[in-house]
Amino acid sequence: MTTTDSTIPSDFIRDIIAQDLRTNKYGGRVHTRFPPEPNGYLHIGHAKAICLDFGVAEEFGGLCNLRFDDTNPLKEEAEYVAAIKRDIRWLGFDWDDREFYASDYFEQLYEYAVQLIKKGKAYVCDLSIEEIKEYRGAFAKPGRDSPYRIRSVEENLDLFEHMRAGEFEDGACVLRAKIDMASGNMNMRDPVMYRIQHATHHRTGDKWCIYPMYDFAHGQSDSIEGITHSMCSLEYEDHRPLYNWFLEQLEIYHPRQIEFARLNLSYTILHKRYLLQLVEGGQVSGWDDPRMPTIAGLRRRGYTPEAIRSLCGRIGAAKKDSLVDIALLEHCLRQDLNKRAPRVMAVLRPLRVVIDNYPEGQVEELDAVNNPEDPSMGTRKIPFSRVLYVERDDYLEDPPKKWLRLAPGREVRLKHAYYVTCDRVVKDEKTGEVVELRCTYDPATRGGWSEDGRKVRGTLHWVSAAHSLEAKVRVYNWLFVVPNPLAQEDDFKNYVNPNSLETLTSCRVEPSLAGAAPGSRYQFLRKGYFCVDPDSSNGALVFNRTASLRDTWAKIQKAQEKG
Ligand code: ATP
Ligand code: MG
Repeated sequence: MTTTDSTIPSDFIRDIIAQDLRTNKYGGRVHTRFPPEPNGYLHIGHAKAICLDFGVAEEFGGLCNLRFDDTNPLKEEAEYVAAIKRDIRWLGFDWDDREFYASDYFEQLYEYAVQLIKKGKAYVCDLSIEEIKEYRGAFAKPGRDSPYRIRSVEENLDLFEHMRAGEFEDGACVLRAKIDMASGNMNMRDPVMYRIQHATHHRTGDKWCIYPMYDFAHGQSDSIEGITHSMCSLEYEDHRPLYNWFLEQLEIYHPRQIEFARLNLSYTILHKRYLLQLVEGGQVSGWDDPRMPTIAGLRRRGYTPEAIRSLCGRIGAAKKDSLVDIALLEHCLRQDLNKRAPRVMAVLRPLRVVIDNYPEGQVEELDAVNNPEDPSMGTRKIPFSRVLYVERDDYLEDPPKKWLRLAPGREVRLKHAYYVTCDRVVKDEKTGEVVELRCTYDPATRGGWSEDGRKVRGTLHWVSAAHSLEAKVRVYNWLFVVPNPLAQEDDFKNYVNPNSLETLTSCRVEPSLAGAAPGSRYQFLRKGYFCVDPDSSNGALVFNRTASLRDTWAKIQKAQEKG
């Protein structure tokens, strides 16, 4: 798996812009735009585009517009507009008052279409969508002219006006550009400019029943807004000749389209239409399900904007598509959370421990460091008492040699507390299941060290049974079981990971987490990074596992350095 394409400079876009500034191509201006279609939530692929569009503008002292590409009323909704704005702001970018909509330009775009008809460069075509496809030919096979291609300018003007007036049914006819049915570029074979859709638009209501296609709306919107560099992903490369053709024919201000590689991430999918299928099919709980690669999902999962921006910075603006290892995203997250997440103790699968020689009813408040990476985060008190919980898998009856945790007769360190030795194990008589450990502690080891310097290598996390709080913890794994679900022969939904969510109830967390606000992030010692879910309430804490502590990316990197 490669992360970036090393054959081209990762900042070819910045090179182009710097060059245009040197030659004063746009009067020294840099003006970009981010053009989402409000037909779904933004995903981390969009974050890459956002970091480029907004980031480049910022770096060169320019501006970046937010423009909704809302030309398809059947799929677009105001809910998506609101979610997109929330997510861009959360990522740390701002468009000030430059919030635009392609639908703001519908009148102007209509005028442009009329101009092209008058120039003999557009015509109304009555072929059905299937016929248009059939006439278009194939890559190695030239297309055939539509019989309607020879309509007069007057007839076209008249028909187009009637299209707008709502006198035709959906699909009865379309407006097409008159370019070249033999072009080697399929996009130039008389592409559709307008289609009829009697549908209510989330902004223009029922004012329009004809809607411009993306290709006819996008470049002209860029032109109207005075965009200088219009960046988009690689699949639009073949559309660039058409982008240029419309602007040239209309003889209007001409921005430059530049394509960069899409971000693809392993074990997930970065396409709104497929993510929508998961939402609609109930494989996930919604667009913000913490398993989703959407910005809203990642936020709920506990990701930080810094981690996402860090990934986007690392992968740069390559010119060739690649599949980025999801381990790199997780690595960026751990690097960020390691610095900022307070450490706490939480036991996910509790096993009761009784310290037989600890006085009944006694409670000590022990000091615990909040973050060894950042002393300014201070310390807190944690209660220690006779009955504790430790992690069930920190005990083994018959351990291998290198086992450093609890086992009969073994001594371990309880973090921030004491050394304890396991004396006895209590089992359920019927099932044989371990239900409790009986231990003794060494009062001379308070704080977790001893003066005699004896070696205790294992350190366990724990909570005081009576003081700890119950919590629910959702442990997430990758959403898919294969690295590239869309490259499979059958439906990608067959590869959804059935174990992508495991819910643990009856977990116990230290009392300092009482009332933790949704969105708060922590490192549960030895367990990973966790974040309070919005489903959480004061009495019933719910945590999402953001990431485990194991950093496979760091391992990959080390191996690469060695190899
Ligand atoms: P999707 O397939 O998810 O619907 P899209 O390209 O149709 O993607 P838009 O809302 O039109 O979605 O995208 C807005 C901008 O984000 C476009 O400029 C597009 O090129 C860019 N973009 C979308 N997906 C990615 C991605 N995976 N990597 C980088 N940029 C992307
Ligand atoms: Mg799109």
